Amino acid sequence: MARNSVSRTMSVDSAATLSGELGAADWQLTESGFEPELANVFETLFTVGNGRLGTRGSLEEGHVGELSGTYLSGVYDGYQVPVIDLVNAPDWLSLAVTVNGVRLDVQACRVVDHERSLDFRHGVLWRRTIFQDAAGRRTRLETLRFASFADRRLCAVRVEVTPLNHDAEITVQSALVGRRRNLERLPVYPHGTTFEPEVRWEKWARAKHLEEAGQAELDDAIYLEMRTLETGINLGYGSVLQPSIQPDRRRVLRSYEQIEEHQDFAVAKGKTLRLDKIVSIATSRDQDDAVQPSCLETLRSHAAAGFDVGLKRSREVWERMWADCDCSIDGDPEATKAVRFGIYQLLIAANGGDPTVNIGAKSLTGEGYRGHVFWDTEVLMLPFFIYTQPNTARTLLRYRYHTLQAARDLARESGCRGARYPWESADTGREECPMYTVDGANRFWTRDEEIHVSADVAYGVLTYVEATDDTDFLLEFGAEILFEVSRFWADRAESDPATDRYTIKQVMGPDEFHSHVDNNAFTNRMAQWCLTQSAQVFSDLSEKHADALAALVAKIGLVPEEVDKWRTVAEKLSYHLDADRGVLEQFDGYFGREDVPITDWDHHNMPRYPDGYHHFNLESTMLLKQPDVVMLMHVLPDEFSEEVKRANFEFYEARTLHKSSLSPAIHAIMGIEVGDTTRAVEYFYRSALVDLANNQGNTEEGVHIASAGGTWQILANGFGGFRVKHQQMTFDPWLPPQWQEIRFSLRWRGNSVRVAIGRSEAVFCLDAPDGVTEEILVRGEAVTLKPQSPVGVPLDEASTS
Ligand code: BGC
Ligand code: BGC
Repeated sequence: MARNSVSRTMSVDSAATLSGELGAADWQLTESGFEPELANVFETLFTVGNGRLGTRGSLEEGHVGELSGTYLSGVYDGYQVPVIDLVNAPDWLSLAVTVNGVRLDVQACRVVDHERSLDFRHGVLWRRTIFQDAAGRRTRLETLRFASFADRRLCAVRVEVTPLNHDAEITVQSALVGRRRNLERLPVYPHGTTFEPEVRWEKWARAKHLEEAGQAELDDAIYLEMRTLETGINLGYGSVLQPSIQPDRRRVLRSYEQIEEHQDFAVAKGKTLRLDKIVSIATSRDQDDAVQPSCLETLRSHAAAGFDVGLKRSREVWERMWADCDCSIDGDPEATKAVRFGIYQLLIAANGGDPTVNIGAKSLTGEGYRGHVFWDTEVLMLPFFIYTQPNTARTLLRYRYHTLQAARDLARESGCRGARYPWESADTGREECPMYTVDGANRFWTRDEEIHVSADVAYGVLTYVEATDDTDFLLEFGAEILFEVSRFWADRAESDPATDRYTIKQVMGPDEFHSHVDNNAFTNRMAQWCLTQSAQVFSDLSEKHADALAALVAKIGLVPEEVDKWRTVAEKLSYHLDADRGVLEQFDGYFGREDVPITDWDHHNMPRYPDGYHHFNLESTMLLKQPDVVMLMHVLPDEFSEEVKRANFEFYEARTLHKSSLSPAIHAIMGIEVGDTTRAVEYFYRSALVDLANNQGNTEEGVHIASAGGTWQILANGFGGFRVKHQQMTFDPWLPPQWQEIRFSLRWRGNSVRVAIGRSEAVFCLDAPDGVTEEILVRGEAVTLKPQSPVGVPLDEASTS
């Protein structure tokens, strides 16, 4: 290697360790040692992101068996795949270090020490690995990476290399890699499909979604542009690599779909070489003109400001976000950490600045469910955003407005007027649910029958409007969604002249073990609620916003008779309460199915399928995949009496296999509500630890982001006992015996209420301008809150243990 003798003799920085950038221990998730079997799970857990993109926590240099990926919200492609994929986008992170000709990676070297830590408070991932080569040379590699929240186009990684016991010739290779593939399906192998972690992903068929659209080599930067094959989205990545000392040599290597920059250095024993890789990402989703100029302009300004400034700005945004949404549990640091981890994941999942995107079932942390959006958003995640980041909640709901036309088309395809939201949604709002399982063996009826999602969207709209009083949203977007969805329900429900009732046939409720059922209680009751509420909104608007209503009515051609029909259908929609047992029948004929007991639990205490049963052959049984009637009682808590809730919880909980990660959170909340607190606490941990303990067994495919939303709801609605009743915040708290206090905050109609629930007292503090007051109910007693004046309400200790 040619060396420049001047820089050879230059001293390099002896930088303080990068771990100094990390916050307190109760804000961190750590990994110690490199274990190949756990590597893919940590890749998911250690995702950094900012709602616009997520980058899995893969090692910068990669490893055999890695499942790496950067996902950009809204960047989907359907080229030669059964349904559209969230594209495994070009890799900005790629960075490898070669020391005396040996690449520092877990294959080429021995790992003497490996430690990583994700700091949720500031959204940074730190890593330190000490590698030893065959000649005994030890080199420490430290990195710090983040995706900026201050400017969502910026990502950066700092690397520090320290040869510990030798003088080193170091080459740092920094690449932009466009040659990416999505996992498509695992072929059927004669001897099963369990492989060593190192080969597992090699066995998959992979889908190509990108082609090269250009490269450029600039004075100090490299640029790569890729384009999605079917959707034609251009993705421009620019990168600079800023070393702490002048490199001996710099060169750029270009190959198909990849461009990389190498810098060579000589570093003396014990000295530290630092480099900052600063990357900007521009896409044609964000702008109409060519992406390269804006990408490079952004890059230049961030390169001039430098890594530290970029990090500082991002940290400031994180601090502000946490001020609104932090939760903590005195007496249970692990639970605090798990709850914060979930909130971190929620924060990096949502892009409050882009109303054309939403949150997929695995957010931007993996390829599970191909990045598709489900009812998970409205029912499990939206409450967190509504009560802590209402602007982001608004943006998430605007996505449903953005896709309203596609929902209208889907309603038309099903022979109905109005709007029917798809079970699985992506860029346009078309139905994106696959028809079959990847092996072709089983049909997914979810796409045809889980029509409850349309009522769930309406539920999201109404919950948001109630909590924020955002009439502008209602007038501009919300009412149109509500009216179109109500039209769909009014058409989809069939009148039965024999009984003078309305029925909804051939559906699947939230419990996906039962398809083609009639009068699913959840679907009918939610449809009914949606119709009633929409009719009410119609009347309210006609009184208070007659002009805006008239404009909307004219726009969508709504006639008053339709609104009358909503009321009629709502009044006459069937669902059955078994008078003897006080239990709602999940659907017509459910009680006649076989009552197969659950007898086996795994080491996470999660039920196993009874012998001979699997996801697709439980139709004839009473077993549930996830709460259905119990879910209904969670979303509409005021519609059912205490006794009915208790009876239904007891009946259905005993028959639920929790084969969806949405299940435990709802059981925790309802368990608290009906007084089954022992089970509730178990369910809380299952929900909070779903990814940290990998208790669904598939965290490597991405986080269970709905469960994170559910966990927040357990804290607020379950332990905090927070519910909105008659337009008022109400609280009926309960704490597990080992907990001393829980704290969380709620945004309510433009103000904030900070809540601290202890064993003998609950303290509420209103953050609001002077003169504002808020009346809340605590265990039925009215309490008036005034700004900045904490109010303590005594709690009967017996009822909080
Ligand atoms: C889920 C369904 C989904 C289907 C296809 C299943 O595992 O339970 O809700 O529609 O996958 O994505
Ligand atoms: C659940 C659905 C959920 C989907 C995505 C499925 O397993 O049954 O309720 O929407 O996963 O999280």
